[in-house]
Amino acid sequence: MTYGRDNAPRLPVRVARPTTFLERLPPPPSSLPRWKISITPPDLSPWLAGNCGIPGVMHYEGRRPGPHVVCVSLIHGNEFAGAIVLDRLLRRRIRPRAGRLSLVFANPEAMHLFDPCNPVRARCVDEDMNRVWLPAMLDSHQTSHELDRARMLLPVIVTADRLLDLHSMLWPGEPLVLSGLPPAGRAMARRIRGVDVCVADRGHRSGCRLIDHPRFSEGNAAACLLEAGQHWREDTVTRAMHAVLSLIGPCCGISAGTEGALPRYDMVVTDVVTARTGLFRFVTPFHSGHVVDSAGTVVAYDGGDEIRTPYDRCMLVMPNLRPARGHTAVRFARTDAGPPAPDQ
Ligand SMILES: [Zn+2]
Repeated sequence: MTYGRDNAPRLPVRVARPTTFLERLPPPPSSLPRWKISITPPDLSPWLAGNCGIPGVMHYEGRRPGPHVVCVSLIHGNEFAGAIVLDRLLRRRIRPRAGRLSLVFANPEAMHLFDPCNPVRARCVDEDMNRVWLPAMLDSHQTSHELDRARMLLPVIVTADRLLDLHSMLWPGEPLVLSGLPPAGRAMARRIRGVDVCVADRGHRSGCRLIDHPRFSEGNAAACLLEAGQHWREDTVTRAMHAVLSLIGPCCGISAGTEGALPRYDMVVTDVVTARTGLFRFVTPFHSGHVVDSAGTVVAYDGGDEIRTPYDRCMLVMPNLRPARGHTAVRFARTDAGPPAPDQ
């Protein structure tokens, strides 16, 4: 099975219709998916001081030389499945035989804000920590909890050879591994176990992700981001464990690094759809990974515009069912995209 068609003609993504706004606004989906909270934040107290001079970073060195492998959790504080995985591995006293291993709890202060009654609140303290990694921003006089924390973590980031950033998703969807367009990151993503789909994109206009830091976007080091499943589910923790072990298993002598299948689908994002109004609504609450068969299918309305799939077999990547104005609403992806289209 393939998604999308190579070099197929494209249809426009955003189409304004000469009808009135109220005629065109669909009824809101009857019910948005509900969130169930099946896991609780881990007790990270043994690791918060760190062991290498940087709070929240546990660093180990093997006897033999080898790459510096870095696993990062809690870039988003309410996505603590990855922190559960790193905590479990630390309690098992996992150590590299070769190379160096850093296990990072990026923003435990945000996680400590987690409240099951308002579970989306603990994403950050001041700002999205996955938009602060542009060197000009890191070098600036700007300050925020997340920016200061990113500066603190930089010595780990700029020495990483392979970095896996552990996330999860608010809305239901197919787990995926996300990378930038550089070949090293894409090759690394294809070797991460436990998810079916690799997606390569060129980042966000709203800020630089950790995996797009120049260490990875311009150098030979590789980074990718795991969206392990929906937040707060035990199977998301299991999947994140498979992914982490597939990365660090070889250097730590762990045979469990072969659990979980390798990704089967290699996708490239062609279009990033940004909500231009506060009334962006999908026609149905699509799951991430949903494939729309026909080009030209209306998948959402954004004020007076229709949002349509530009080609057959178009994959919807991480639809944000309630995007704020100016935020990414959905990305379209296919197997071989050719040159990326401008943002819509
Ligand atoms: Zn996240």
